[in-house]
Amino acid sequence: MSIEFGAGSIATCLIDTSENRPPPIEYDDYGDYLQSLEWKWKAWVVKAKAGFRCQVCNSRGILNAHHRTYDRKYHEDYDDLIALCSDCHEKFHNVRRKEDWEL
Ligand SMILES: [Zn+2]
Ligand SMILES: [Zn+2]
Repeated sequence: MSIEFGAGSIATCLIDTSENRPPPIEYDDYGDYLQSLEWKWKAWVVKAKAGFRCQVCNSRGILNAHHRTYDRKYHEDYDDLIALCSDCHEKFHNVRRKEDWEL
């Protein structure tokens, strides 16, 4: 079974990394963004690219997509994100509030 993505669909927009892709949706609130289909799709791709393993310890636990940089917050390149298990993610966020986690 193949999944067809229509032209201009959100999935096409996110997969297409060319310069011609449609502009991303603007989000006012980071919390809204983290609830968005756009972020959830992006986070899933990051985890899939990592083979659904933590990129630090290689474990197959629950994974989070972690921001290596917020330079392109809301418009992240896939290279800006890494898949981390919750243990490793905690180490990256040990000074930040848990509610800010990307997941
Ligand atoms: Zn880990
Ligand atoms: Zn994180």
